[in-house]
Order: sequence, then structure tokens, then C-alpha cells
Amino acid sequence: MSFVAEFNSLPLAALVRKSLATDAAGAREAAGKSKISLADFAALISPAASEMLETLGRRAHAMTQQRFGKVIRLFAPLYLSNECINNCTYCGFSRDNPILRVTLSLDEVKREAEALRAQGFRNLLLVAGEHPKYVATGYLRECLAALHPDWPSLSLEVGPLETEDYRPLVAAGADGLVVYQESYDRKVYAEMHTAGPKRNFDWRLETPERAYAAGFRRLGISPLYGLADWRSEALSAAAHADYLLRHCWKAALSISTVRIRPCAGEFEPLTHISDRELAQLVCALRLMFPDVGIVLSTRENPKLRDGLIRLGVTMMSAGARTEPGGYTGAGREKTHLTVRGKVVETGPLAPAKPRINGQGASEWAPSTRHPTNATGQFDVADERSPSEVAERIRKLGYEPVWKDWDAALTA
Ligand code: SF4
Repeated sequence: MSFVAEFNSLPLAALVRKSLATDAAGAREAAGKSKISLADFAALISPAASEMLETLGRRAHAMTQQRFGKVIRLFAPLYLSNECINNCTYCGFSRDNPILRVTLSLDEVKREAEALRAQGFRNLLLVAGEHPKYVATGYLRECLAALHPDWPSLSLEVGPLETEDYRPLVAAGADGLVVYQESYDRKVYAEMHTAGPKRNFDWRLETPERAYAAGFRRLGISPLYGLADWRSEALSAAAHADYLLRHCWKAALSISTVRIRPCAGEFEPLTHISDRELAQLVCALRLMFPDVGIVLSTRENPKLRDGLIRLGVTMMSAGARTEPGGYTGAGREKTHLTVRGKVVETGPLAPAKPRINGQGASEWAPSTRHPTNATGQFDVADERSPSEVAERIRKLGYEPVWKDWDAALTA
């Protein structure tokens, strides 16, 4: 049995109704429990519980310090390719988006990784769109094997694979797999994924289990907030985490709290989760899952990121670029335009003026601010350098940790 069967029998609508109907006494009662059930979690993310955010924050803060100490683990995403055969309405890399694409060669990947190493990173997340031609398993294996000697921790965020196809990637040095369900709402999921293998909801939902069977020792999950009702998504993710903790218990689990950002395709979020609700969600996740990592990306702005550190976040990206070659300009000369999945001949690509959207320069137009022309997956909201983020973490009384694992520990 996989999580799919358990998920199909979840009383999600009733749990959301329970959350909305929770009163102050119910929220207080849930917050005071030492073991939080899914029904308690519904109470913790209720509108009533948002009135006691300070109390939730104090508890979450104390629990995080007790379990994790005063440390924030730092990692960087390294985009290998922005080629993709899926149409995910909310993603800049969607097949039909007319954007500038590139897949980095092995040497270019090494150059990008070296630039990140020089900034202090030892924990890398390799990211790529889903494309069997450009991002084949053999290519991923070669990238991992080339980086493994210098990188204590390598995780993947790539198109889902079969267990047997994951095994060589683990053998080549991958220790973590991140796979966002995007939406746990089947109807919304079908509407958002209009073409490509990603349309298969169940296949994606079972991915962490296939990865675990292949030997990954870190698993990361999350919905993408902004597609379906946030409470329903959070409840589904909590149920998923609970299942994985019971069935994939040898792996370290992390949950992200990613919200939609501006990207090519100009997708507008369908639902809203406020900053305050996001903070409440981080607290609720911490209270229900004392030992689970909570990941915060550069999709959030510096002020909010700094504030959430105290509530339960344990891992952050920093200085992130969401385009292949974004750190060094690697692959710049072979960037090509695709329209509806087909390569279109263009003249030489001149750097264009960055588009300003009020929250920072867009990364999907060729930009004078970044060294490559390739289009980014989304706009980052925290544009501080890794050293600035690390300094801020120190000022807040935490220790930034660049390396938290060594392959020798598994030998
Ligand atoms: S979300 Fe992933 S699969 Fe979907 S278009 Fe973007 S890169 Fe491709």
C-alpha cells in the first residue's frame, strides 16, 4: 500500500471545515498537547489560532531549539537545465512558454558548482526540468559523479523516476530527493498540468516512496501554496509527512513552505496565504513534527525570512539563481529560444534591460544583472548574497551551517 490509498480516504473537506470552525478554546487545547494529531493540526492552522500566534511562536521556537539547536543549514540550488516537456501553468519553464533555454554540459555544471563552493556552500540541490532527451538519467548520473568528490551533500529536484532508475543516482552520490506535489487537490492539479507526464497525480504522489526504496536518505516534500486552498494543502502535506515518517523512517524528512512567485507565463496565484498565515503554518508544522526539517527558499523576502528563522525554519537557500548558468554565465553562448517546445532560430541574443515588477528584476527576460541569458524558473524575492544571509543569521543569534553531512558517515 502507498500513501495514495491513505490519501484517498483522508476526510480533507471535514478537516478544513473543522479548522474554520475551531474557536479560541479549541485552538488553545490543540496548542497545549504534547502530541499533535491531524485534527489538532487543523485547529492550529485555524483562523482562531492565528490570534494566538505569539504563543504558537514561543512553543515552536523552543521546540526547534531543543531538537535542532541554534543553527540554520544553508544550501544553494544549481539549475542544470530549463528544458521541460511538461506544461505546468504556474512555472516559467513550462514547455509552451517562449523562453531562452539551455542544458549545461558537465564542465559547465562543474564551473557553476565551483562558484558556489567558493561562496562557502557544501550542500547543493541540483534542479532540472523534466526532459528525457536533455535531462536523461545518464546525464544526471554523470553530473552527480563529477560533483560527488567535492560535495558532502547532493540532492536532486528533477522529474520523478522509477525506483530502478533512482538507484544509480544514489550510487553516484545523490543523498536527497525533493519532490513537490504542487497541489494535493486532484481537480486543481489536473487543471494546472495540461500536458506531459506530470499529469499523473498518483505517480507523483508516490515518488518519495520510490526514492526511499532506492536508498535516498533525505526526502523533501511540499505543496506550492497559491494553487488550492492553503489549509487543505497544508493538511494534505501534514498527512503525507506523517505517512512518510511511519513508512520511510530511515530517511530525514523536510517540508518546504513554497509560495508562487512571478515567472514567465505571467501566472497569477489562484489562492492566497498571507505572511502571517505562513508564519502560523511554520509553527503548526513544527508542533506536529518536532524533528522534521522546515525549508525556506529565496521565494520569500528578507524580512519575512529573518522572522521565520525564530519560529522553526531549519534550512534555507541563499543567493539563489533560478536559471542554468546563473552563477557564472556558463552555457550562455548556446542558449536558444523555444516556442511551444520547438527550438526557434534567433540572431545573437543581446542582453536586454531588466524588467522591473516592483519586487525586483525579472529573471525571465535576458538581464544585464545576471551573467547568462537563460530564463529563470521564477523571480527570487531575497536577493542578498550568501555571505549577507549568513551574517544576518549570525546577528539573529544562530549559526549558519554550510556542511551538515559527510559521505564518510555512511561508510
Ligand atoms: S514545474 Fe517542473 S515539470 Fe513543471 S514546467 Fe516547471 S520544471 Fe517543468
